Amino acid sequence: MKTCQRFAHIKSGFERDIRRLRGHAEGHQGSGSAKTSAKNAFSLKRNMARALNRHLDRCPECG
Ligand SMILES: [Zn+2]
Repeated sequence: MKTCQRFAHIKSGFERDIRRLRGHAEGHQGSGSAKTSAKNAFSLKRNMARALNRHLDRCPECG
């Protein structure tokens, strides 16, 4: 599948945030904030899938 610049941009933005949250969760294992970060990383991943799907629906370049 071919994807455009904007798709890559959306994806890399989300991935950077997810990595940051995961890193925080790993660095603070067992703490409450680590649990929150892990949960946020999970929902961010879901948001990313939703945002990318929405983009694919509308973008004339991707497909
Ligand atoms: Zn696109």
